[in-house]
Amino acid sequence: MNERQLLMIPGPISFDPAVLRAMATPTDSHISPEFVEMFGRALDDLLEVFLAPNGYPFVVAGSGSLAMELGLANLVEPGDRVLVLHTGVFGERFADIARRQGAAVDEVHAPLGDVPDMEQVQDMLKAASYKVVTITHVDTSTGVATDVRTLAKMAHEHGALVVVDGVCATAGMECRQEEWGIDVCLTASQKAVSVPPGLALLVASEQAVEAFRSRSAVVRSYYADWGKWLPIMEAYRERSVAYFGTPPVNLVYALSVSLRQILAEGMEARFARHRRLSEGFKAAAQALGLRQVPVRPEVAAHTLSAIYYPEGVGAELLKKVADEGVVMAGGLHPEIKTRYFRVGHMGPASPSDILATVGALERGLLALGYTVDLGKGLEAAQRAMGE
Ligand code: PMP
Repeated sequence: MNERQLLMIPGPISFDPAVLRAMATPTDSHISPEFVEMFGRALDDLLEVFLAPNGYPFVVAGSGSLAMELGLANLVEPGDRVLVLHTGVFGERFADIARRQGAAVDEVHAPLGDVPDMEQVQDMLKAASYKVVTITHVDTSTGVATDVRTLAKMAHEHGALVVVDGVCATAGMECRQEEWGIDVCLTASQKAVSVPPGLALLVASEQAVEAFRSRSAVVRSYYADWGKWLPIMEAYRERSVAYFGTPPVNLVYALSVSLRQILAEGMEARFARHRRLSEGFKAAAQALGLRQVPVRPEVAAHTLSAIYYPEGVGAELLKKVADEGVVMAGGLHPEIKTRYFRVGHMGPASPSDILATVGALERGLLALGYTVDLGKGLEAAQRAMGE
């Protein structure tokens, strides 16, 4: 592997060197005063990043799928109804987790590249009483972003709790957990939060914690039980110690550095930068005559782009682009898996990273015989990103 490659997949991403250096800090005791202070501060910072100042933060060793389980398993009891809104493959995980908790699951599937039909969602909410509605903010398999704010409002009007998978969105796409009334927002470290893989991150609202506390059935997962983790997180936030499972000390170091970087940039600036990078890459793709998987600009994510290969080009494009030093991802959605590729542009990604990626894409397309006016994509990206 060429160590100078630019990793532009939708997670894990290219991490900031200061975050990576933090990973190599000699491991301290998880009960040392220094670590307790660092973890406590990271939990406080997490609430600011999620824009949920009164929320309950959780940082647990595991990937995004664990965060999904932490989100659902604690709210769902056998016999509860759960409504899963799909915009790609990741809703399936929510449905599976909910069924394993004994829930009755109903689903609304969006057409490929689109968001769920609001009227259909409204009808479903009217027809049955759901304990939880799940929303995938950005589905990484399609590059589709949902209107979380509107959907959360609709769900609340019908008395449901709202669980949002922000794995490919949180800290990149605008999301205001408290203002939008999201009961659980969850993510993983390796995407826009910009920390190597290994942390499940979640913030629960007061209402979600109340719903958890008033459940009658035991949580069917041992490791994901909030009952185990709430006292731990509460202790660290009070700068004291409690033990359930050994925290991933070095990942917490890295998280604390990254969260400080995120907050130093500011959430509004960060959302705007992600939008700008996305507009740059998408403008380039369009200028090169490439079609996107999301069917309209309003439903396209800012954290990644999902683009169809042009006629006569396939996954060999990834190899050609990698030869130019840029790593893009192939398709994931089973219906179109071999027909599109994905580019992540989140975390510390910069306009120059977008330009390097577009440049490599132009060269890769040319190498495969696709007619490319070299520089056309670059020009479009430059113009879209502005000064
Ligand atoms: N949800 C979404 C939207 C994702 O993109 C992913 C991972 N790509 C997951 C959930 C699962 O996360 P993980 O792979 O970290 O378990």
